[in-house]
Amino acid sequence: MPELPEVETIVRELRKDLINLRFRNVWVDWAKTLRQAGGLAHFKKEIKNKKILSVRRRAKYIVLDIEGKKTIFIHQKMSGHLLYGKWKLVDGKWQSQIKGPLNDDRNNQYIRVVMGLSNGYQLALSDLRRFGKIVLVDDDKVNDLKEIHELGPEPLEISSPEFKKLFIKKKGRIKQVLMDPHFIAGIGNIYADEILWRANLHPTSRVEHLDDKDLKSIYKAMWDILKLAIKHKGSSMNDYRTPSGTKGDFQNLHKAYQKTGEKCSRKDGGVIRCIILAGRSAHFCSVHQVLK
Ligand SMILES: [Zn+2]
Repeated sequence: MPELPEVETIVRELRKDLINLRFRNVWVDWAKTLRQAGGLAHFKKEIKNKKILSVRRRAKYIVLDIEGKKTIFIHQKMSGHLLYGKWKLVDGKWQSQIKGPLNDDRNNQYIRVVMGLSNGYQLALSDLRRFGKIVLVDDDKVNDLKEIHELGPEPLEISSPEFKKLFIKKKGRIKQVLMDPHFIAGIGNIYADEILWRANLHPTSRVEHLDDKDLKSIYKAMWDILKLAIKHKGSSMNDYRTPSGTKGDFQNLHKAYQKTGEKCSRKDGGVIRCIILAGRSAHFCSVHQVLK
């Protein structure tokens, strides 16, 4: 599932493309994608000719503010990703009119939603597994959405002392805690592994046992890893692509995630191991990541 760096990359690119454009029409091949009271007809009517005012990210979600005090909320889920380009419906299948990855990469060809724009381009959702979700809500109801409602703070908007405060009376294993969106938003399996590798902490360390120095290390590692990953346009392990259809390249800089059996790049004699923690994989160096 795309995490903060991937969604931030998508949002930054779409912001350049979409601001001040208007929606013209909508095509959907999977009613469930548009979970909307009133269905597709209502959605079409509400967004038609409305200008896109802003493109934002909250946690792993994409938020498009449009004219008329409405907001389009997009949850890409497992394999969904938004693309910006030009497509034509040929024999019931959308074909990219732009050469390159939008045309060649299979991951960009599971087109479920196409939204026509006033400049002749389209915003499309490619979603192999069909879990992606698009909802239109009133501006003042966005924060009531169940996905947004109880989210923790944004990792790149919180200070080190504020981050430290989150751990007061907190219990549990550090990797699970970092992946809990109610604790802090936008960090999933990939970036929790990479942050803990950098912070020298074993993923099953109990947060009750972490001292000030550990929390500072986690904060700094979190900041550094997320910033670096955004710079590299995120990690394309599977389905994730940028809006122009290209891959991110942070996967080439992973030190722990899915590196099982490889020597630790710190040359400390450690080997990356994989354990199952609460049903998810956790990768760590057997030498420099300390269990607390
Ligand atoms: Zn190591």
